Amino acid sequence: MCSDCTWQRKIDTILAQAGNRVDNVTGAISMPLYFSTAYRHAGLGKSTGYDYSRMTEPTRDVLEDVLAKLENGYKAYAVSSGMAAIQLVFTQFNTGDHIVVSDDLYGGSFRFFDLLANHYHLRFSKWDGKDYDQLDKLLQDDAKAVWIETPSNPTMKVIDIQAVAEHTHAVNAQLIVDNTFYTPLIQQPLNLGADVVVHSATKYLSGHNDLLAGVVVCKTEATATEIGNNLITIGSNLSPFDSWLLIRSLKTLPLRLHKQEANAQAIVAALRQSDLIENVLYPGRGGMISVYVKPAVNVDQFLQHLQVLSFAESLGGTESLVTVPAIQTHANLSPEQRSAAGITDNLLRISCGIEDSTDLIHDLKQALTSASKPAEVDSNAK
Ligand SMILES: *Cc1c(COP(=O)(O)O)cnc(C)c1O
Repeated sequence: MCSDCTWQRKIDTILAQAGNRVDNVTGAISMPLYFSTAYRHAGLGKSTGYDYSRMTEPTRDVLEDVLAKLENGYKAYAVSSGMAAIQLVFTQFNTGDHIVVSDDLYGGSFRFFDLLANHYHLRFSKWDGKDYDQLDKLLQDDAKAVWIETPSNPTMKVIDIQAVAEHTHAVNAQLIVDNTFYTPLIQQPLNLGADVVVHSATKYLSGHNDLLAGVVVCKTEATATEIGNNLITIGSNLSPFDSWLLIRSLKTLPLRLHKQEANAQAIVAALRQSDLIENVLYPGRGGMISVYVKPAVNVDQFLQHLQVLSFAESLGGTESLVTVPAIQTHANLSPEQRSAAGITDNLLRISCGIEDSTDLIHDLKQALTSASKPAEVDSNAK
């Protein structure tokens, strides 16, 4: 991307400058948006490098370059959603292949793995993220890949990527990490030994609760070539306008994430003091918190009393959101699967936005208090 750079830029600089110095004709600072799907050729066998936008497209190219730098990968692909990114990664696998997955994942990932198992006969087995003897046993069963998410969703379990990579590579399998929660500013799985990283860019990378997008980053040229050819075939590429929006969003990722993390740490400290909270799950970094509220708190009342945070199912945006995993993101799991994973009805997930932390803490406290008052006695009842 930067052929005339005389020194290696830091990531904040690369992000802030994304798309600048690309258009030498006009000198545009903001990356131009190319809507053209077709590109004119000067003659037989001649191409500007652009032919048809399902293959490559100038605005998306700039985005993919920045994303590859951000995760320190060989090549990144920007696609139409996080689920499209997950699907794209699975185009590498075949009927009968065995994939080991950690047991606490985004609910949609499990739903997709069920579809692959039922319709295409891939085999999946679950690993708890801790027991490496069990992991080795599962890997011995001809595993082709390990799929993990860390910290996990919603119970914030942390998995040692480096250790998993060593075990996975011992049987020549591939390690794939969903890095949506921490983003590459906190954790770079490819540097820790992973082979492929996926993101729901709908979350922190875009960060404004207004863009659906996904990312796949490959560490090696071989993986990138296979996945790239499959992407041209399935056609889930990110549109030019959405690519432009994501470039624009990435410029402020470090600022946003820094504030979201500071807000999370302030909220964690405040909620750990609250008599209405049973337990706070926070891995120490990032902007995501899960809390178990005490039985005295009526969850529905709590959600209705919130004035700043919104009851909605997403994360990573500028606006703070509260999710109830048992009825939203993880509703597709059976009640037994949910209780085994600790996803009980009193578990709430908070995605911290960039508001002032004192307002967020004030809002959470007042809603907890209002939701724990004994129901008002109907004076006409007796
Ligand atoms: C939201 C999410 C996904 C799915 O991404 P979409 O952009 O909604 O398709 C995958 N993994 C994680 C961890 C997520 O939070």
